[in-house]
Amino acid sequence: MKEIYQLNKEELFRTCGNPEGLTTTDAKERLQTYGENTLVEQKKQSVASVFFHQFADLLVIILIAAAIVSMASGNIESTIVIFAVIIMNAILGTIQYVKAEKSLDSLKELSAPKAKVLRDGIKQEIASKDIVPGDILLLEAGDMIVADGRIIENFSLQVNESSLTGESTNVDKDDSDITEDVALGDRINMVFSGSLVTYGRANVLVTATGMHTEMGKIATLMNNTKSKATPLQISLDNFSKKLATIIMVISLIVFGLRLMQGEKILDSLMFAVALAVAAIPEALGSIVTIVQAMGTRKMAADQAIIKDLKAVESLGCVSVICSDKTGTLTQNKMTVQQLYTCDTLLNADQLDLHIPAHRYFLYNCILNNDSSIRDGKDIGDPTETCLLTMARKTKLFDVGVTEEVLRDLMPRLEEIPFDSERKLMSSKYLLHGVPTLLTKGAVDVLLTRMDSIITEDGIRPITENDRDRILEQNMQFSRQGLRVLALAYKECSDSEVLTAASEYGYTFIGLVSMIDPPREESMAAVSDAISAGIKPIMITGDHKVTATAIARQIGIFHDGDMAVTGQEVDRMTDDELTDVLPKISVYARVSPENKIRIVDAWQKKGHIVAMTGDGVNDAPALKKADIGVAMGITGTEVSKDASAMILADDNFATIIKAVLTGRNVYRNIMNAILFLLSGNLAAILVVLYCSIMALDTPFQPVHLLFINLLTDSLPALAIGMEPSDKKLLRNKPRDPKAGIFNKSFSLQLICYGVLIGIVTTVAFYLGDSVNALTASTMAFATLTLARLFHGFTCRSESSIIKIGIHSNLWSVAAFFAGVLLLGFVLLAPFMHGLFMIADLTVKNVLSILGLAFIPTFIIQITRIIKEAVRK
Ligand code: ATP
Repeated sequence: MKEIYQLNKEELFRTCGNPEGLTTTDAKERLQTYGENTLVEQKKQSVASVFFHQFADLLVIILIAAAIVSMASGNIESTIVIFAVIIMNAILGTIQYVKAEKSLDSLKELSAPKAKVLRDGIKQEIASKDIVPGDILLLEAGDMIVADGRIIENFSLQVNESSLTGESTNVDKDDSDITEDVALGDRINMVFSGSLVTYGRANVLVTATGMHTEMGKIATLMNNTKSKATPLQISLDNFSKKLATIIMVISLIVFGLRLMQGEKILDSLMFAVALAVAAIPEALGSIVTIVQAMGTRKMAADQAIIKDLKAVESLGCVSVICSDKTGTLTQNKMTVQQLYTCDTLLNADQLDLHIPAHRYFLYNCILNNDSSIRDGKDIGDPTETCLLTMARKTKLFDVGVTEEVLRDLMPRLEEIPFDSERKLMSSKYLLHGVPTLLTKGAVDVLLTRMDSIITEDGIRPITENDRDRILEQNMQFSRQGLRVLALAYKECSDSEVLTAASEYGYTFIGLVSMIDPPREESMAAVSDAISAGIKPIMITGDHKVTATAIARQIGIFHDGDMAVTGQEVDRMTDDELTDVLPKISVYARVSPENKIRIVDAWQKKGHIVAMTGDGVNDAPALKKADIGVAMGITGTEVSKDASAMILADDNFATIIKAVLTGRNVYRNIMNAILFLLSGNLAAILVVLYCSIMALDTPFQPVHLLFINLLTDSLPALAIGMEPSDKKLLRNKPRDPKAGIFNKSFSLQLICYGVLIGIVTTVAFYLGDSVNALTASTMAFATLTLARLFHGFTCRSESSIIKIGIHSNLWSVAAFFAGVLLLGFVLLAPFMHGLFMIADLTVKNVLSILGLAFIPTFIIQITRIIKEAVRK
């Protein structure tokens, strides 16, 4: 039997479908038959295995040991509570894991690849998972190929099939018939899922989807969006491991100490266990995960879709943002301004069709153009749609010759599509019976390829004088921030097949200038970036003078800054580039290689770089940057695949919003860690003090578990939800290499821990004057309440008066929920047995309240005084 690549077109259409594609109803039916166009993903962990995985944690193992020791010492209630708590913790951990997976899945959904197909005879963009055999795929440069198919119409298609064949060079494809048996790499009339379109375009009849594609046959396990641990999670994991070892060593020392003091083995063991439980920050891991997940949700709501969780952290450290101009900093809404032809400046309505130069001007704008205007809506590249809008203002349109009529009259014979490296677009037509190549593109590129010029008096060789005048006009337009295209044509032979070598020897027709105003929010976003210690840089394919004019308007380019072109960068050595790097705020006419060099140079200086990109060749630079940022609307699938974040609205201001959220997430996580660890430190200090002073054990393990898992988790979560504050944009970017425990963090940790430790010890002594049970009850209640109050302190570095209680109502709710839980344990008689609680007098309760408030009072008063002094 013949393989699909060996069928001739007739057989192909008979067996696989027709060139008009499918109807929506057909496609739906086929989706039922063939299934979704996806590769089977790595099997997800089952809920049960996630649950059991929660027990494979050193800290949980210590807790289990604690339960066993409690049981051995006859304290069955305590054992039950510890086990109940461990199981509850595992259930919570499982719920969080499943939720986090779900939220990652919905993020994946948001960034899922799309493909263009012909359905119901209309070009439509659909999710690639909905592609079915029989669909017509419309491929163009920058697309990821999402199914296998046979090429039915080819326009210089080149693809990179390295993921399938390992061959990294681009392969030329065509729509010819192949009769012999050939290997996969030589089936040039086919395209395969997993390859990239690097050049040209083609229409393809889909012949296989999902696991039936060549990629599906070899890739049983394809899962490229694995959720890897972020640097913060890794450093916290390492910290937990170290902490566990230290805890065990100290616990052993305490155990020995108590034995030496003549205590019974089991009692000494209980002491050591209490210490271990006090020190373990059980809630830490889940709080970090939850706060990060909330951060990605907030970013998605702000139009920044995170594909790699690491980006949430790196965003807080970004110190350089390299941004495209067109569409990201500007609106990408082009409007033609003035035209220049026959050495005269004109408006569109002044084009006179009797003048040949004007006629060629219009032919070029309308025919050498892939976009259209349908039902008043622009379809295609704004640089091209604005040319059509301009043409509609001319007399041609008045006499009924619309672009559709003209395009029907003069069908395109051949083309070399636009690409940002050549900066040209050419297409061949039969104009007045003569095969003619129409070309438009960047002035500096096209002007060097002109031999002649068309004037009102006819065609004559172009002189240096002409070139100077054209360049001067180009400069005048560019200085106003206008984008300028040059238009040219040349007569060619019928038989000539178009290649890049054909794009020489032109006749100059004229220039067209267009305005693309900056986005309204760009200016504020740029000024926010600068005050946040971030250097915004414009990297564009546009002309240097145009780019500089726009950069100046937006606030990226200031007096004394430099603007350089890609060619100038090419001429610099690495050392020269490093020297001038901080001064350059505009790079114009850049190539994808330039982008990689710029990122590399900044990274070598120790900066964290975010870089935007949309083109097919931007993938390496997007991968090289610390945060590759792709454009959700105009970006190619290849660039989206290579990036860590996608801007759903293509807007520069969205990057700054994401930076703010990134900084806030990090700050909140740090504050939550400070809160949890300072509370734990207090408990450790009290236990250590009591063991050295040969006092009774101040807490039962259940007390500490109650605090760590319940009353402490609530304020920690509330701290994680602290809303972002624009003031965060006034700080310098965080140093990514600085660890968690810097000097100020450690100092605060110790101060807060000691303060809470002291008041808890005082409470213990007060209770000790009654009996041992009252002592430990007082210590437990004071520690719990002091930590609940402490939750307000750890919300911010500022005083609570400055930030206001109401600015985070979660923290108020967390406080009252914690107080209720504590009240329940202290006052409900049936809890007394489980938690080993003594009956308290009113005086006891008042002492607890007073003592627990003291640390927060001292810290807040200190902050208020400091703030007043600073004012
Ligand atoms: P950015 O990188 O900021 O998005 P850009 O959109 O200006 O910049 P390109 O799209 O690479 O960058 O365009 C580079 C140059 O190519 C433009 O300055 C223009 O002169 C020319 N150009 C752009 N679009 C077309 C087109 N459709 N046909 C012909 N020439 C074009």
